[in-house]
Amino acid sequence: MRVSVPTIPDAVLRAATQKPTVSPAVAVDRIARFFEPGNVAVLTGAGVSVDSGIRAYRGEKGSYLNPNYKLRSYLGYPPVRDAQPNPTHFALAALQYASVAPHIITQNVDGLHHKAIRAAWDDAKRAEGILELHGTLHSVKCSHGHPVDRQSFQDMIGVANPQWKAYAEQLERSDSRPRTNPDGDVVLPEGTRYDQFVVPECTRCLQENRHNAMLKPEVIFFGESISAQVKDKSFEIVDMHDRLFIVGTTLATFSAFRLVKHAIEKRKPVLVLNIGPTRAHELAGIEIIELPAGAILRDVVTRVLGSTAERDPVISRLLTSGNVKTPPDDYVDPIPLPTSR
Ligand SMILES: [Zn+2]
Repeated sequence: MRVSVPTIPDAVLRAATQKPTVSPAVAVDRIARFFEPGNVAVLTGAGVSVDSGIRAYRGEKGSYLNPNYKLRSYLGYPPVRDAQPNPTHFALAALQYASVAPHIITQNVDGLHHKAIRAAWDDAKRAEGILELHGTLHSVKCSHGHPVDRQSFQDMIGVANPQWKAYAEQLERSDSRPRTNPDGDVVLPEGTRYDQFVVPECTRCLQENRHNAMLKPEVIFFGESISAQVKDKSFEIVDMHDRLFIVGTTLATFSAFRLVKHAIEKRKPVLVLNIGPTRAHELAGIEIIELPAGAILRDVVTRVLGSTAERDPVISRLLTSGNVKTPPDDYVDPIPLPTSR
């Protein structure tokens, strides 16, 4: 199945009339009651990472099939690499750790759900509890499946493209950065020369005298298919829980939207916490609360976990962790782009 380019149909945008907003206090109460019976699956999207300084998608979509992505991804990775979980990630991690909502399905490729619970859960537990529907920016594989550490890949690109390495270092030192999308893609000015950008080949393949083994982050780009294994696992997670909580997503990708439809078909209660129109607005039988997760989710979890939240040192730490970082403003690139080697 293909990951569709994320857009919300115009009809949905038009139909999403101003819903009456509820007060944060009412929302906390409502969402806490949704979680209290336990066994809740969680589905997240770009909205939960905005408070980590990673802005949600906006504007032109579908650029990811562009071969120029390789260069933009090289420049766009450092901000995602350096991003830290915010209070929403940590609140969801507390629900995972407390077995109220043990499984998160995320459309995000930033790895922040992993970072949030890393201190409490080992690799195996995180692999079981977090399904990255569209992959992760943090690992790289060649077309023959050889893994390469992401930072090593960055370093290899830097060695092969010294002029772009110098540019990237200037960007990191400057306060402003090119607009970065949640998938680590950046917007570069028109006229950027991509033709001399060199993507290093897989060294293991080269040792085996195999050429053109392209290295690529393990991200499902728009237009690519998610694996049958990941798709099946996503449905399994919905099936094994009694209800579905959706946060910070417009549900614009089909791989997420069909999970919601599946939950409804199975008559599972579904609650959406998100600002603005979502594709869930097309569906009957879904409760939608239009508030930013960052404003209320920690309070929700504190309520749900009650005195455990204070007694358990891990949970209490999760519920006091995370800072809010505002995504940087768009800027007009003040640093001259490399023009030749
Ligand atoms: Zn290889």
